[in-house]
Amino acid sequence: MSFTEQVKNEVARIIPERRCCLRAELTALALVSGSLQIGPHPGTLLLTTARPVIARTIFKLTKRLGWQATITRRQYTRPRRYHVFVVELPVQQGNLSVLRELGLVDRKNRIKERLDTRILDRACCRRVFLRGCFMGSGFISNPDHSYQLEFNLNTGEAAREVNTTLLRFGLAPGLREHNGRYVVYLKEADQIGEFLRVIGAMQGVLDYENSRILKDMRNRVNRLVNCETANLKKAVDTGLEQVEMIKEIAERIGLASLRPKLRELAELRLRHPEASLTELGRLLDKPVGKSGVNHRMRELRRIAEQISHEKKA
Ligand SMILES: [Zn+2]
Repeated sequence: MSFTEQVKNEVARIIPERRCCLRAELTALALVSGSLQIGPHPGTLLLTTARPVIARTIFKLTKRLGWQATITRRQYTRPRRYHVFVVELPVQQGNLSVLRELGLVDRKNRIKERLDTRILDRACCRRVFLRGCFMGSGFISNPDHSYQLEFNLNTGEAAREVNTTLLRFGLAPGLREHNGRYVVYLKEADQIGEFLRVIGAMQGVLDYENSRILKDMRNRVNRLVNCETANLKKAVDTGLEQVEMIKEIAERIGLASLRPKLRELAELRLRHPEASLTELGRLLDKPVGKSGVNHRMRELRRIAEQISHEKKA
């Protein structure tokens, strides 16, 4: 199961308690999922979706609101084999207009440019609204691979509502338009984690955090290992280079011709090519620190340079 499905299945199980929230979730689903149209029998609202979990949620919400609805599954074979679920909802329920209740039309039953503000007045409803929009149009990448959350929307109005509502929770969405489709997205792990918290996907939040922590730890360990390896390599390179230099001195003038302190260090280096300067310092008869060893090494280098000059001359 994809991470998107996991999160959607998790939040689909949450059914709001308040009537305002039931309405807000239904509005969200009507706005973003499948198609919203007035049916062939005038006075019917059709909500179409390919996902059974969304059809079930829509059906549950209408039932809680005390509205009559029917759900049917339609099978198509052309252009390819697929099926959709259609929830049919009579627009007039008792003395209520469903479209007006969902904030989709104004008092004269004209489709509104923007949702009725009343639908998103309360914070409880805004959370539920985002949850519905995510269920109907959302995608979230598996955090083990990347951090990406998207709402894929049919209309500019839906994109604007989602965008504004995300902003009201302090999130920073991006928006892009392509071929008449609108994508509202969040990119950073913090933002996506916060979004999952807002819509109440607590298992999703945990999965997200865990994967982030693991990824973080892996990166840190890798950095440490790389750093360690680099230091080690540098020490070994330096050691081998000094060995070459000392061999040159030995061949030309013999180590016996060196001052005792220099000779001791030169012989130690030949025996321990991989040791760091500090380690060499500790191995001396009268131990010295790194800078002391460094000082003697410089002296050895001067001698080696002198020899190579004489060689050329
Ligand atoms: Zn509410």
